[in-house]
Amino acid sequence: MTALGDLLTRQIATDGPMTLADYMQACLLHPDHGYYATRDPFGAAGDFITAPEISQMFGELLGLCLAQAWMDQGQPDAYLAELGPGRGTLMADVLRATARIPNFPRKVVLVEASAHLRHIQAQTLDGHDVTWVETAADLPDAPVLLIANEFFDALPIRQFLRGKNGWSERRVGLQDNTLTLGLAEETRIDALSHRLADTGAGDIVELCPSVAPIMAEVSARAAQGGAALILDYGDWRSMGDTFQALENHKPVEPLASPGQADLTAHVDFEALTDAADCHVSHMTTQGVLLEQLGITHRAQALAQKLSGTALEQHIAAHRRLTHPEEMGTLFKAIALTPQSAPLPPGFNIASTV
Ligand code: SAH
Repeated sequence: MTALGDLLTRQIATDGPMTLADYMQACLLHPDHGYYATRDPFGAAGDFITAPEISQMFGELLGLCLAQAWMDQGQPDAYLAELGPGRGTLMADVLRATARIPNFPRKVVLVEASAHLRHIQAQTLDGHDVTWVETAADLPDAPVLLIANEFFDALPIRQFLRGKNGWSERRVGLQDNTLTLGLAEETRIDALSHRLADTGAGDIVELCPSVAPIMAEVSARAAQGGAALILDYGDWRSMGDTFQALENHKPVEPLASPGQADLTAHVDFEALTDAADCHVSHMTTQGVLLEQLGITHRAQALAQKLSGTALEQHIAAHRRLTHPEEMGTLFKAIALTPQSAPLPPGFNIASTV
C-alpha cells in the first residue's frame, strides 16, 4: 500500500467510508502524496499522453480557432486562459500559432492546482506574460479566450447505483483493512431527479459536483466576449461506471495504489452545457472538429519538411488525433460564446453526434 493508502485507511477507520469524490480528490491533489502534486505524468515515459503532447497541430488549430472567434467579435479586450494546462504545451502552441496576428491577446492566466506542474508550465512558457490562479473563480472578470483539454475528466465524481426507491452512493470503505468499494443506504437524491426516467434498477450514474461552479465562472467570462473551448473524453449524459485508473499507459484497479495512478471519469457534456450561462455550441467530436479546422491541410504542409521516422510519426499523430478508432470519436468538444456572437469555426455546425 502507498503512503497515501495508509493515510486514507486510517481516515476511513476513524470517520467511516468516503465518497469517490473525496477519494479522487486526495489521490490526485493531496499536497504531499497526490498524483498531480508529485509528478509529471505526461508523455511516453509517463502514464498517459494527451492531444497537445501528440502533435503541435492540436494547439495550433485551437489557437487559430480562438483567433477567428476573437476577430469575428471585433477584437474584444480579452486574455488567454487555460484550465489544467499540464506541461503548458498546448498554450505554447497557441501562442506560436497566433504570434503574427496583430493585437491578439498575449496575456495568459493559467488555472493550475499542482505546484509541481506550475513549475513545468513556467519553463515551457518562459518569456511569455503568464500568471497562475488556483481556481476558475480567480480568473479576471473580463472577456476570455479559454481552453480546457482533459481538465474536466480529472475532477472528482460521485457514483450512484439506482435501486427500487432511490439511489445508493458507491463509497470507499474498508474490508480486512483493505480499501474496498461499498454502497451507502438507498436515499432520494434531488440532483438526480432528471435521471429517473432514463435509468432503471441496477444502473450506475455519475455526478461531478465541481462542474456547476466551474462552468458558472467560465461562462460568466465567455458571456462578456471571446470563447471557451472544452475538449475531453465522454459523451452526452453519463451512464455507467466510467471511473478508471491508468498507470504506465495501462488500466489498473482504481483502489490499488492511491496517489500513484491517474484517476479519471468520462465527462458528461450535458452537465457542462446545462451549467453554462451563455451561448453553447452543439457537442461535436474531436475528429470532426479538427477536420473542420483544417488539420489535413496543416498535416500536409508539415509533412513537406519531414522524412523517415519523423514523417511516419507525424502521420501516426494525425491519425491518432482524428481517427474514429483512436481519439477522434471518444473525445468531444463544445464552445461557449456570448449570446449574440457567431460560434467559433468548427463549432458552427448542426449536431454531429
Ligand atoms: N490540459 C493538459 C493536461 C491535462 S491533465 C493536456 O492536455 O496535456 C489535468 C490537468 O489539470 C493537470 O495540469 C492537473 O494538475 C490539473 N488539475 C487537476 N485538477 C485540478 C483542479 N481541481 N484545479 C486546477 N487544476 C487541476
